[in-house]
Amino acid sequence: MKQIISRCGNICSECPWSTHMRKKIAKEDWDEYSKQIKYYIGFKPVKYEWEGCVGCFTPNNELPSHPFFNFLKKCRTRKCGQHNEIPNCAYCRRFPCANTVARNNITREKISEKLGKEIIDNEYEPYIKMFDAMENLNEIRNKLNDTQIKNPKPVFYKREITKLTGEFNNEGFKFVYVKLLEIANSNLKIKGIDTVAGLEMYKIREDFLWRFLWIVVLFGEIDGNKLRIDSATLYDNRKPISLPSNEEGWNLYFDILSEFNVSVELEILTDNLYTPGGYMRAKTPKTNEPAYIIKMKGGSDLQKLPFFKVMNEMLLELQKKTGKLGFSNFKKLNFNPLLD
Ligand code: SF4
Ligand code: SF4
Repeated sequence: MKQIISRCGNICSECPWSTHMRKKIAKEDWDEYSKQIKYYIGFKPVKYEWEGCVGCFTPNNELPSHPFFNFLKKCRTRKCGQHNEIPNCAYCRRFPCANTVARNNITREKISEKLGKEIIDNEYEPYIKMFDAMENLNEIRNKLNDTQIKNPKPVFYKREITKLTGEFNNEGFKFVYVKLLEIANSNLKIKGIDTVAGLEMYKIREDFLWRFLWIVVLFGEIDGNKLRIDSATLYDNRKPISLPSNEEGWNLYFDILSEFNVSVELEILTDNLYTPGGYMRAKTPKTNEPAYIIKMKGGSDLQKLPFFKVMNEMLLELQKKTGKLGFSNFKKLNFNPLLD
């Protein structure tokens, strides 16, 4: 059978979730096969009886109604490939873009590090290679000539920031506002927010970061320029965002905050941090006790204020003046209700 490569570089024709593998692997061999996939990849392919994924080239209106396909509909790499009318990311001038780099989490080296052993070809080829998207894309790219590589069609986005209609009377509030404006005007460490995939990544980071700042500043324990919040409190106030599923996910946001001179540290409180499915817990099982603590500290430029204390006063006042609209005003930097 001809090899089918998905938009992101996965090999659909060898993917354990595909219709193809359900035809290729006999029912009696499925259990052993799916056990091997779980061992290397970390997820168990859903049961044999299910027809399987029809691949990401199927248009949305032809996708079966099974809930599995919601993930295909939401996939930003698929949307970006469709928008740019290219078969996969190897054909894109921006490759490897921030999105392809962020997705590069299944490689021979990474699986070898996770399992603490060398991965030989007999393990890599049947159980890992189909998800080693970066490697697969590089192989395709090396065979393309320059005329086959396309510039992505740009997309435009203007973040909604409300104009201030007056001046802050409170110098501390003014200082915090300027810092927040700096964050709001940043690309949150994403190169290429003019691409469909880059912009979607940016929006996810933006949604998370503003909600995170809102929660930690309103619910954390503040000591002037320092702040700490436990994961149980974060979890209880997280909606509508989900917390990162692993330490790497958190580190990404800590890295973004470090650009604004806020250092963040994660203190793990339990040996039982991950669920069997590989997700980071916020509460330890049975006890409901926090699984970790996040500690933040303002760097030198923030030390001219007790930064978090002033920001806490500012957000409390915004909440008091605008009630349920407090968070949406904060996200738009609409501090007009606090001006004279
Ligand atoms: S899950 Fe992804 S790689 Fe697997 S068949 Fe579907 S589109 Fe292809
Ligand atoms: S911008 Fe990135 S995700 Fe989009 S097509 Fe290009 S390489 Fe793929």
